Amino acid sequence: MTNYFEGRGILVKGVFEEAALEIEERHIAYKDIEAKEIIFCNGVNALGMELFKHVPFQPAKGECLLVEIQDFYANEVIHGAAVISPTVDKDVYYVGSSYQWKYEDDKPTEAIGAELKEKLEKTIRCGYKLVGRKAAVRPAVKDRRPYIGRHYKYGNVLLFNGLGTKGFSMAPYFAKHFCEYLLHRKPLPVEVDMNRFLSNAVH
Ligand SMILES: Cc1cc2nc3c(=O)[nH]c(=O)nc-3n(C[C@H](O)[C@H](O)[C@H](O)COP(=O)(O)OP(=O)(O)OC[C@H]3O[C@@H](n4cnc5c(N)ncnc54)[C@H](O)[C@@H]3O)c2cc1C
Repeated sequence: MTNYFEGRGILVKGVFEEAALEIEERHIAYKDIEAKEIIFCNGVNALGMELFKHVPFQPAKGECLLVEIQDFYANEVIHGAAVISPTVDKDVYYVGSSYQWKYEDDKPTEAIGAELKEKLEKTIRCGYKLVGRKAAVRPAVKDRRPYIGRHYKYGNVLLFNGLGTKGFSMAPYFAKHFCEYLLHRKPLPVEVDMNRFLSNAVH
């Protein structure tokens, strides 16, 4: 994705600042960028944004291992005791994962690292080398449905978020729906409406 936008010279790298966004009825401005609409795909960072404070998230921390396995097949995701998924690096696989709804920080922990190794060893019989450990917070949602669509107040502000614990599995399916909505005005499935938890008073 990055390569796609970079290749067309339309990628601006940096940290987006909500305070610099100007929303007019038919116009969006962000620093020196002008646009008709803006789509936020900012994962768990939508939490805490003024624009999306009406959208309830239930963030869930997860940890994973990165392991090197020589001559392992695998272009596809393996679902065993652990989930094993190829990465962009040759012979390096992602091994997941854990769910923590209460956590102090977003760093990997020894305890979960050990649990994941145990699950990996139940899933594969060959040797592996641990090359990394990672942790992150998922943009999870109480009813496990994404948040997609237009802001209830600003029609030119859109969200594609709430992909939660199954984000990389569900993203292609919902991205297709979202494209059809944006390009061909096909309605989005009601269960992913980003405004579904808004009270009538706010609507
Ligand atoms: C440990 C773990 C294991 C997982 N395992 C699975 C699995 O087995 N199967 C599965 O389907 N899903 C899994 N997921 C879930 C999946 O990774 C997420 O649902 C998915 O990544 C969400 O996609 P997203 O594009 O909405 O958000 P993200 O992937 O978080 O992408 C958001 C992007 O926005 C950028 N961004 C945010 N704020 C700003 C800002 N202010 N300025 C600039 N850039 C910004 C971030 O840097 C990031 O690149 C797992 C998640 C974790 C943490």
